[in-house]
Amino acid sequence: MTFNEGMRIDTSTTSSSGGGGRGPGRGIAIGGGLGGLVIVVVALLLGVDPGSVMPQQQPMDTQGVEAPGFDLSQCKTGEDANTIVQCRVVATGNSLDGVWAQLMPDYTRPRIELFENGIDTGGCGFASSDVGPFYCPGDQTAYFDVGFFDTLRDQFGSSGGPFAQEYVVAHEFGHHVQNLQGVLGRAQQDPTGPTGGGVRTELQADCYAGVWAHYAAITKQEGTDVPFLEPLTDKDIADALSAASAVGDDRIQEAATGRVNPESWTHGSSEQRQKWFTTGYQTGDPAKCDTFATNNLG
Ligand SMILES: [Zn+2]
Repeated sequence: MTFNEGMRIDTSTTSSSGGGGRGPGRGIAIGGGLGGLVIVVVALLLGVDPGSVMPQQQPMDTQGVEAPGFDLSQCKTGEDANTIVQCRVVATGNSLDGVWAQLMPDYTRPRIELFENGIDTGGCGFASSDVGPFYCPGDQTAYFDVGFFDTLRDQFGSSGGPFAQEYVVAHEFGHHVQNLQGVLGRAQQDPTGPTGGGVRTELQADCYAGVWAHYAAITKQEGTDVPFLEPLTDKDIADALSAASAVGDDRIQEAATGRVNPESWTHGSSEQRQKWFTTGYQTGDPAKCDTFATNNLG
């Protein structure tokens, strides 16, 4: 119960597609345990650029099969956001748009695409569900396979609370903000290592997610004049931190290979991700999220 039931969901920037039939082995790739495929999954988990790693062409077994997407007309109010996961993603996007429009004079809304199994993106090539949620700067769209939220809980050990999911959406919108600021490209210049551009970019997106959390319950929706979210509880914040921790590079590496190698980090440690989310949440100040200007990433 995080959304104010009086808020109205705006689906005008959201699309939904059912993807192309059976994707390339989601259940096997992730459910099969901690093999090499898990590394592929997490290399891009909450990442920004599947096009650089994923095959650019749709796999043969998905060509020409188009399943119907989620029916977005089900998403009308905050109550729907509290009960239907797809509506929660859209409503979280609405809230993010409301908050960032107040923080950034030249903010423009990204699009949201809900998909299953796999998606042929406009700007980043084909992405399977294994990629996890991602933001594509080429088409300014945040992509979500909502099945990932179960994976986050069941395979990565996050709590299953709604705010864990909302943190994921806020992180991807953080990449959109970076794109508008012109800093997203730094992730590619120096993509790996504990103080590389990749880690700095990801930690800044976590911090921006925290900034959103700071304002989400006090920013009123235009039109309804009710705040997007109910006041956040300690459990909500614990859910967000749980998700941030679950996708830390050290935790994922430890689980996958039994050892931790910071030189290959792309997103930051569990502790760092929690630290930067907290910085954004406590200050509400995007300027405090300048992970590129500090020698102390945490
Ligand atoms: Zn990211």
